Amino acid sequence: MTPPAASDAERKMQFLFALRSKGVTDKRVLSAMETVDRGLFVKGIFEDRAYEDMPLPIASGQTISQPSVVGLMTQALDVQPKSKVLEIGTGSGYQAAILARLGRRVYTVDRHRTLVREARAVFDALDLHNITTITGDGSFGLPEQAPFDRIIVTAAAEDPPGPLLAQMAIGGIMVLPVGQSDAVQTLLKVTRLNAGYDYQELMPVRFVPLLEGLG
Ligand code: SAH
Repeated sequence: MTPPAASDAERKMQFLFALRSKGVTDKRVLSAMETVDRGLFVKGIFEDRAYEDMPLPIASGQTISQPSVVGLMTQALDVQPKSKVLEIGTGSGYQAAILARLGRRVYTVDRHRTLVREARAVFDALDLHNITTITGDGSFGLPEQAPFDRIIVTAAAEDPPGPLLAQMAIGGIMVLPVGQSDAVQTLLKVTRLNAGYDYQELMPVRFVPLLEGLG
């Protein structure tokens, strides 16, 4: 006999429980993640696994990150209601939607035009009007909108890209995975000080590589 399917409420409870047990404790982050339905960002055959704590494939050979990793990165980013946030690697748009619930404005860049277009459609359907989507190579950041209070990169570079460091506001925070693309990478939290930068290693992670040019 097959067990009865979990109800929406049960799945949501399990989803939040998984986040908490992995260390996502910030109330604002948990509430944003409770509000943004991950199922809307996962399309096709994997849709019914949207509430499990695992990364899933999306279009253009990319992945939507594991919810607990999204939660831990968002928590480390410490987004404030007035924050102007830059995300490199829109992917499905899930992370951007959560950031949009926490900050004032989110600029999100991806090198795949199709992903940007699909994410935009979901943002519009959710009435998330404080997200600006851009197709481009995010390793150069978005100089015309700099400085940013918060920057999050959801693809791995070998080192923090210089243009992104330069586009951080004083007191600003950047969270990004660094390391070789085919190995375990390290999640790094960079804080811009009055003079220089502070670097803190958070945990091992695995992301797709930050690539040059358009996809
Ligand atoms: N944040 C996403 C997951 C991102 S997957 C989510 O919530 O679903 C990583 C994304 O980074 C991919 O979509 C890939 O196309 C993008 N990417 C890789 N290199 C890039 C670059 N140089 N500039 C912009 N986007 C890039």
